[in-house]
Amino acid sequence: MTGRVSFVGAGPGAPDLLTVRAVRVIGEADVVVWARSLVDPAILEHARPGAELVPSDDRTHDDVVAIYARAAEQGLHVARVHSGDPTVYGALHEQLQACRALDLDTEIVPGVSSVSAAAAALGQELTIPDVSQTLIYTRRPTRTSMPANEQLVELARHGTTLVLFLSVRRPRELQADLLEGGYAPETPCAVVYRASWPDELVVRCPLSELAAAIKANKITTQALVLVGPALQESPCAGRSHVYDPGYGHRYRPLGRPDRYKKAAAPDG
Ligand code: SAH
Repeated sequence: MTGRVSFVGAGPGAPDLLTVRAVRVIGEADVVVWARSLVDPAILEHARPGAELVPSDDRTHDDVVAIYARAAEQGLHVARVHSGDPTVYGALHEQLQACRALDLDTEIVPGVSSVSAAAAALGQELTIPDVSQTLIYTRRPTRTSMPANEQLVELARHGTTLVLFLSVRRPRELQADLLEGGYAPETPCAVVYRASWPDELVVRCPLSELAAAIKANKITTQALVLVGPALQESPCAGRSHVYDPGYGHRYRPLGRPDRYKKAAAPDG
């Protein structure tokens, strides 16, 4: 029997934002390894009775790989539960390599990203036609450095909707980089702390007040910063072409409601 590791996205926090597939895979696992800091223990209710439950936050990569090695030897199924989606800042790459070296089967179960939960908390679309059609996910360097071509100042030059993970610890530098990159001081920003958790906090401000707002609310971790013109709260010009009455397509030919197909529109 071959051992198997499933990397499971637990979503942003609220236990009912787990996917149906995540629930099934957690329920099938012999061992569930989960990070306590950003994953609600309520997800463990889906583990089968007798499953081994291992918190990962006090373990190193090598400790977790030792669990994978045991899975390879004993033909166990491990569910490694990550916050949000495991493919975004999930330390996934090194784990996949380790599993492949151990000849373990692997699978990835996508999760709802914290970005989706933050946008839901804001009640806003992050891509508004004619305002912003591009999302940049990035972070500031900490102990993890940034590739030379991904400096925040350079990314900011595009003026898109920009989402910063793992970047609230040095708010003054964050604000300075965004301004230096060319966002105007009045650019709308939002900081979403623990999106979808009971203690979720949403702070909105112009970029010129971002650092002060992060400090005043004592946000030092577990938050996303969103920047860009799409975050303005007042209505702005942009409107989707796909749903425009003057825009026909395969499922809604112009002027022919009788020909509307029952399926969804092709793009969104
Ligand atoms: N894989 C995760 C990200 C893990 S990195 C995902 O897809 O969302 C951890 C960082 O993600 C945190 O420092 C924070 O910036 C962000 N994050 C994760 N969950 C969050 C939440 N519920 N609310 C706000 N930010 C969150």
